[in-house]
Amino acid sequence: MNGVLGLLLLLLSAASTYVRPVVTKECDSINMFGGMCLGVRGRSTPLPSALEECQVTDTDIAFLLDGSGSVAGYEFTTMKNFVVNLIQTLQKKTNNIQFAVSQYSSGCDIHMNFNEFSRAYNWASSVRNIRQQQGGTMTAAAISKLVGQLFVSSAGARPNANKILIVITDGESEDGSNLPSAIARADAKKIIRYAIGVGNAFDSYRARQELDKIASSPAKDYVFKVSNFGALSKILSTLEENIIAIEGIAWLHSIHGRVRPITRCQESPWREDVSLGILPLTDV
Ligand SMILES: [Mg+2]
Repeated sequence: MNGVLGLLLLLLSAASTYVRPVVTKECDSINMFGGMCLGVRGRSTPLPSALEECQVTDTDIAFLLDGSGSVAGYEFTTMKNFVVNLIQTLQKKTNNIQFAVSQYSSGCDIHMNFNEFSRAYNWASSVRNIRQQQGGTMTAAAISKLVGQLFVSSAGARPNANKILIVITDGESEDGSNLPSAIARADAKKIIRYAIGVGNAFDSYRARQELDKIASSPAKDYVFKVSNFGALSKILSTLEENIIAIEGIAWLHSIHGRVRPITRCQESPWREDVSLGILPLTDV
């Protein structure tokens, strides 16, 4: 009972981060969601109307692909396919995400900023047609460029959106000493960073440390280490879940084993989920 209730409270607590009703209400059962009452004796109190006013949080996601010479051609193709698959998957989940795609080696090209991506006639084809740069691996310089030139309004970034940068790289950078300052700039803009390491180069301690620097903390949630590019598809679902969690959508595994979506601003299905998920606890 305690375990189930604890898990449920954790899930509801996480969801409450994104639902901020302004109405507070006294409950004779459990007072949650900053004002919502959850019945525990076979009834649930209606949600306050303020819940319907919650704001959908937008998310801007930028991909940064390592196109340096150490990446084999087929590996670069796999990277692009990974990006396309991830974007397509996320677009099916929510329409509040914007995307941008860039590549770096010695320099950094923003192939499609947020505006260009949304206007693209066939964005997937545009991604697949990106030509690998070859050359060096100036990771810090690339991150700095994106902070200053991509996560800005003129490139289509939205000031109040969650900002996510996904760096996919196969090797150690050549400008590692500049990483702390680049990361500091990204942190100042509250850019959440995922680091996806691929290739044998990341078997080294130094390379792993660099991945940890690139990524947000804790590293276990934001660093993915795979032995080869083919394994990228295996982390797709994990990455997707993390992004969806940031988007504010959680999945409640009810004690009956059903999986039901909980979204912030869909009051009716959410209320149904709460009822189905909460009330049976009294019988446990
Ligand atoms: Mg390289």
